[in-house]
Amino acid sequence: MSLGEKLARVREDLGAAAKRAGRDLSEITLVGVSKTAPRPAIEEAFRLGLRDFGENRVSVAEEKFTPLPYPPNQASLHLIGHLQTNKARRAVKLFDIIHSVDDLRLAQSLNRYCAEFGKKMPILIQVNVSGEESKEGLAPVELGTTLEQVLRLDYLEVRGLMTLAPYTENPEEVRPVFARLQTLFEKHHPGTPAWRTLSMGMTNDFEVAIEEGATIVRVGRAIFQ
Ligand SMILES: *Cc1c(COP(=O)(O)O)cnc(C)c1O
Repeated sequence: MSLGEKLARVREDLGAAAKRAGRDLSEITLVGVSKTAPRPAIEEAFRLGLRDFGENRVSVAEEKFTPLPYPPNQASLHLIGHLQTNKARRAVKLFDIIHSVDDLRLAQSLNRYCAEFGKKMPILIQVNVSGEESKEGLAPVELGTTLEQVLRLDYLEVRGLMTLAPYTENPEEVRPVFARLQTLFEKHHPGTPAWRTLSMGMTNDFEVAIEEGATIVRVGRAIFQ
């Protein structure tokens, strides 16, 4: 299948899932996870109308997105992978939104560089809902206190939560993970208008994630492989 056909199929499945869930398609953003894709594929995806790209490593993203593979400000680059504090400055320079903020020190460091660059950075707090040891993210019990502190940082716009569900062939197995993130999202609502994003769901399970309230799905293999 060509990239165009794959993208069309994902969009169709996404639309069908939104319809089943009685949700408006306009409130769901498809992020094409381009981490395995070469630059020409990213350029082609942009020509096909994709406007959001996700990368999980700062250095790889710097290589592929410098210069940008699309006209400036015409698409958004999402950092979806774990971020080390020593790469925070570079991340602030390159990315338009960071999904993987999972500790206060990292948030403080991002805030400092955003102040330096005069940039207000949209961020999501990553939560380890499933409690798998290998997964990054805050434990749900830590969310309240960390969120309260992160909300005080002037240069970060805290938009919501992100989670990485365990890998599975059967998406029904991870439905409870998505449902739990949605519950945490409501429970910890800070009352700010920016709080509107739930980033969850990948190739194997994005339809279930949409049924459980995802506003961003991060799809890699179904588009780029
Ligand atoms: C790779 C990756 C994805 C996309 O996964 P696919 O199974 O290829 O759709 C989504 N989120 C994160 C954090 C990833 O690292």
